[in-house]
Amino acid sequence: MNQFQYLRPTKPKAAIDALARDTNAQFIAGGTNLLDLMKRGVMAPQKLVDINKLPLDKIEKQNDSLRIGALALNSTVAEDKLVLERHPLLAQALNAGASAQLRNMATVGGNMLQRTRCHYFYDTALPCNKREPGSGCGALEGFNRMHAIFGFSDKCIAVHPSDMSVALVALDAAVLVSGPKGDRRIAFADFHRLPGDTPQKDTNLEQGELITAVEVPDSPFTKNVHYLKVRERASYAFALVSVAAALSLDGQTIKDARLAMGGVAHKPWRLSEAEKSLIGKPATEATFRQAADIAMRGAKAFKYNEYKLKLAPNAIVQALKNAASVA
Ligand code: SF4
Repeated sequence: MNQFQYLRPTKPKAAIDALARDTNAQFIAGGTNLLDLMKRGVMAPQKLVDINKLPLDKIEKQNDSLRIGALALNSTVAEDKLVLERHPLLAQALNAGASAQLRNMATVGGNMLQRTRCHYFYDTALPCNKREPGSGCGALEGFNRMHAIFGFSDKCIAVHPSDMSVALVALDAAVLVSGPKGDRRIAFADFHRLPGDTPQKDTNLEQGELITAVEVPDSPFTKNVHYLKVRERASYAFALVSVAAALSLDGQTIKDARLAMGGVAHKPWRLSEAEKSLIGKPATEATFRQAADIAMRGAKAFKYNEYKLKLAPNAIVQALKNAASVA
């Protein structure tokens, strides 16, 4: 591992200043992804700004939303009474991620910023445009079983690995950030990027910007929700495909719906058209199948991930059935 400078500020401004001036610096909180990347030589920051002393771990009810501090631990959020009451979909998604030990270390901000688990990205002997822009994409013609079926480019076909982020995009969350130019609020749907020609950039954060909190607006999705994660083993595995499904029901009629997928794109993939198709319809398997067909429009597979074209719509139908308690 390279040598690096280590700072531990106690005020957000000091943390922001430390990064704003230095493009080769990184914030570190739980470190559950960054330390692996540093040990493997994928990332080599010259300065680590440890933000664990910043007062950013509260979970608080606001007028019409729940504000979750960026340093709240994944396990704390998943067990929080307010989260369980108001946003059970988020709790389910968090509990589907990683392992209990990792959830005890990983923070909300870090979860969003974790990097893809594409094997070519982690192997510094292989080409990867995300790790080394211009070197090529090893996965494009390689072993691309875990890769994207939506929103990819010829520069990168990686997927975002976070489960939590799939629930947050479905719930219309917002990311609150502070930076050298002040504070701003980013809709969760705009926080992560598609790869385009610059796959090295995972998010729309600017240099020196610090995530301070996530706000999840109040919604009627407190009961009929389900986070379905399909993976290769029961725990401690990334999603082949995951689905965050939330329904607001009037009897068996769907009043409103939220739907997003993970494991299929470079960002959490919101399924807005499929959501619209559900509204006003009966909560039946036929309705859910129709929505899944709409959700899959435009999907395209590579040599080894064709199975996702079948798995993804089936996962959507099953998640919606579970959310609606349809047998
Ligand atoms: Fe790198 Fe993206 Fe290609 Fe994976 S898919 S090798 S992360 S450029």
